[in-house]
This record gives sequence, structure tokens and C-alpha cells, in this order.
Amino acid sequence: MSNRRKPPIPGLYRRTFLHSREWFARRDRWFAEQAARGIPLTCAGCGHAANKNQLELHHLDYSGVVPGDDRILARELHEDLTPMHAYCHELLHRLIDRDQVLSYNRSRRDASEIALAKLRRSLAHVQENTP
Ligand SMILES: [Zn+2]
Ligand SMILES: [Zn+2]
Repeated sequence: MSNRRKPPIPGLYRRTFLHSREWFARRDRWFAEQAARGIPLTCAGCGHAANKNQLELHHLDYSGVVPGDDRILARELHEDLTPMHAYCHELLHRLIDRDQVLSYNRSRRDASEIALAKLRRSLAHVQENTP
């Protein structure tokens, strides 16, 4: 399986899972857990503080997304998800999609971490050059 935005269950994933009650509930639990752990919300891409409504969750691992009888189940571990601004999230996916090695020759977690490091460097560079 590749790390491109290809779903574990082709087609079904983006069409249904990311719009499902199951996923919205999992998302809420993730933010509740993060708050319970006392971890401030920041974007994994640019590093800026953000609130729940400004953040999407990127999957570092899809193994918790499993087909159930009538719907896809969200069994991700807390560590399988990382918060990102929609904009930073989109940039992250572009970095992965454009790179053959990241798309096909790394685990999704490794590909995400390599791409996140790249993204942080380029976003930091943008900030340095902004008056
Ligand atoms: Zn960001
Ligand atoms: Zn993502």
C-alpha cells in the first residue's frame, strides 16, 4: 500500500469515513484526550498554537481504520493521529504525493515524519523572510 492519499479501502474511505459520525466522534475523543494529557494544541506543521476548530487530524498510521459490519471503525491509537491546520495538512500531503520514496518506500509514519520535518524547515524559512 502506498502513502499517497489512497485509502485503505479504496474510494470508500474518503467518501464515507472522513464524513462519518464514527470519525467525528474519534476526532472529539482525540482532542479530549490531548486536553486530559495537558498538551497544548499546536499544528504539527507550522508549530503555531491553534484551537480544535482550526485543526484537522492527519493519520500517521491507518491500521486503526478497520472495516466493521456496516461501517468503517475508527480504532486509531492516540499516537496514530497528529493535529494540523488544513493548509499545513494539504502541504504535507503534497510533499508525500510528489515524492516516490515517501509515497512507496517508507511506512506511513516514517513518510509523514520525514515530510513533516521538510515542511517545518520550509515554513520556518518563509517566516524568516517575512518582515
Ligand atoms: Zn500549521
Ligand atoms: Zn493527512
